[in-house]
Amino acid sequence: MQNLKLVGSKDKKRTIIKIDDVEVGKDLVVIAGPCSVESEEQVMITAQKVKEAGAQMLRGGAFKPRTSPYAFQGLGIKGLKILEKAKNVTGLPIVTEVLDPRDVTWVCEFADVLQIGTRNMQNFSLLKEVGKVNKPVLLKRGMYSTIAEWLGSAEYIMNEGNTNVILCERGIRTFETYTRNTLDLSAVPASKELTHLPVIVDPSHATGKPSLIESMSLAALASGADGLTVEVHHNPPEALSDKDQALTPKEFSKLMKKIRKLHTFMGTM
Ligand code: PEP
Ligand code: MN
Repeated sequence: MQNLKLVGSKDKKRTIIKIDDVEVGKDLVVIAGPCSVESEEQVMITAQKVKEAGAQMLRGGAFKPRTSPYAFQGLGIKGLKILEKAKNVTGLPIVTEVLDPRDVTWVCEFADVLQIGTRNMQNFSLLKEVGKVNKPVLLKRGMYSTIAEWLGSAEYIMNEGNTNVILCERGIRTFETYTRNTLDLSAVPASKELTHLPVIVDPSHATGKPSLIESMSLAALASGADGLTVEVHHNPPEALSDKDQALTPKEFSKLMKKIRKLHTFMGTM
């Protein structure tokens, strides 16, 4: 492994990141919400539902990295203002993606956690920029990246001074086509033994299939993940991005019940 003097676990206490009342790395943390912010109504409905179900944070992209330039690109600042409203109503901290180094400073006014997406995991100028601000960073693993490369990216962020990095395994590309990606669950205990950072799992992008999200969520927790990030939409067929993988609020609520049961059971082990 390369020089990981900052993220490496040797002689370091495990990092706990406090975001309002949530302590990532200590509490079990579930981030839930739509792939994209589409409208105020959509975000408000979803935010209330995921809060009722027991989620600790709200996710939603206002800047979307899309494969096609003709696909919905996100609402930008309008989307961030909607997320701000949802936080005011529900109290849920906001996790949202930032794509451009020039946007980092002002997006911090709306975000509680800055998400770096899989496609930007090795966008080193973006990593350096989020390393200079005082908001926690959710660093998704690049879909073509090794664990060592992923941790190298976390090192870039920490090297600029920001020590609050949450790692997120979200599946990698393999020859398998039935699932959207292949969830590399071994990356959870591996990154936890190599670093002192909290590690969460995204079963939505990892599988691309609602029918697989529950089992992969439970498996993620059993493998030692500190939490999950799950896509939820009040009306998945109408979603403007990732409609095929979104859970309905009802499905999410069912998932949360199982997650709590497993978490309680694991506490007895
Ligand atoms: C997302 O969280 O909606 C997203 C685009 O994730 P990823 O970067 O993992 O594909
Ligand atoms: Mn998505």
